[in-house]
Amino acid sequence: MDTYCSQPAGAEAYIEDRKDSILTKGKSKGNISCSSDSLAGAVSQRACVYCGARVVLNPVTDAVHLVHGPIGCAAFTWDIRGSLSSGSEMYRNSFSTDMKERDIIFGGEQKLAACIDEIVAKYAPPAVFVYSTCVVGVIGDDIISVCKEASLRHNIDVIPVESSGFKSGNKIVGYRAAADALLKLITPKDGVHIEPTRKLNFLGEYNLGGEKWVVERYLKEIGIEINVAFTGDSTVAALKQAPGACLNLVQCTGSMHYVAMKLEQTFGTPYMDVNFFGAENTTESLRKIADFYGDEDIKRRTEALIERESSHVRPVIEKYRKKLAGKRAAIYVGGAFKAAAIIRQLKELDVEIVLTGTQTGKKEEYENLSGMLSEGTVIIDDANPAELERFLREKDVDFMAGGVKERFLAYKLGVGFVDHNHDRKDCLAGFEGAVKFAREVHTTACSPVWKHLKNTSVRDVRL
Ligand code: SF4
Repeated sequence: MDTYCSQPAGAEAYIEDRKDSILTKGKSKGNISCSSDSLAGAVSQRACVYCGARVVLNPVTDAVHLVHGPIGCAAFTWDIRGSLSSGSEMYRNSFSTDMKERDIIFGGEQKLAACIDEIVAKYAPPAVFVYSTCVVGVIGDDIISVCKEASLRHNIDVIPVESSGFKSGNKIVGYRAAADALLKLITPKDGVHIEPTRKLNFLGEYNLGGEKWVVERYLKEIGIEINVAFTGDSTVAALKQAPGACLNLVQCTGSMHYVAMKLEQTFGTPYMDVNFFGAENTTESLRKIADFYGDEDIKRRTEALIERESSHVRPVIEKYRKKLAGKRAAIYVGGAFKAAAIIRQLKELDVEIVLTGTQTGKKEEYENLSGMLSEGTVIIDDANPAELERFLREKDVDFMAGGVKERFLAYKLGVGFVDHNHDRKDCLAGFEGAVKFAREVHTTACSPVWKHLKNTSVRDVRL
């Protein structure tokens, strides 16, 4: 059965049930359908709740991440982020209870308790995050009780992360499970007092390729210290100091707005959104932070830093802009904050954006993205590979910025690719990140290989 609509090519071509999740700016009426469960069978990339929780918590460097479930769940999320550590490398392991048929029939609680005991005896971690997976949710293992008893037995934090994969068709639910686990970790125990400081927390920063260190260097130069980043290059001890910050910066809004709101409610810490991808975003974010502190010396240093760094970035962007003007780009990334940052950087390079999509964008975030895009741009929520392939062809895209799964799709279609995934090890933050991003876009979009594909008609045959 042909489940695609029979309308002519364009944003009108989709699986019927997905039609409200695909809009064309200037043509479509109404709001985009988003934040709902993924359509069953649509090969969505956002549907595993456990995976959503793991990407948020995994960068806590000295914690053990124990996956209660079959080995496959732990294997496919092993070292899931390109987060770098300045200390412990414990987070780069993937521990699993390796549930087998027998455990599923008779229950896996005893095995989980034995695994925690073995890990604590062998590695003495300061905390263990225990993730539940689909099968654990189905058989009903009580991981909360097991964690509580293990915590008392070993006198460390053993924190359940309630992330059974099937809980929802949307990994945002996993972000929430991770956020609840983090809040359990950082809420001071009875009698513990955390001293207030003038430092700030940096939420939604995962230190991919050392990005947190770049921002930390800028902030240090203007006279501000990071208390702890959530969760890039963090430790359990540092996270427990989180209530002592005077400000929470939120970068990845999808994973951390909830945490920021909770910290404001509980500890009275204000928060603000920032974005350190691209020179313009970095400039704006530094100014916002300096304004918050209201200190003239901080403001003066901020302007000096911006002037110095911008003077390095401007000629490079100008050089690439000349070569990239008129190229056509598609963007498909996890969160809307990242999509917005890429749109802004590509516009600086005079690149035309013809498709933009995210896995987890919310209604107001799509409205913001739409405001940044030109008429005729396709906007898509929770795309599947068939839809992306269709639009890459129809829109005659020169290159795509996306996650790891889109790389192969783009290359197969003779389209350039820029990696903006959570497992990359390249630093794309700050002024130096803006230069690197522009260089990457130029390298892939202007590669002669695509011309040869066109000349030999390979691309045309595929199209
Ligand atoms: S938790 Fe469920 S959806 Fe996620 S990897 Fe495991 S089995 Fe798959």
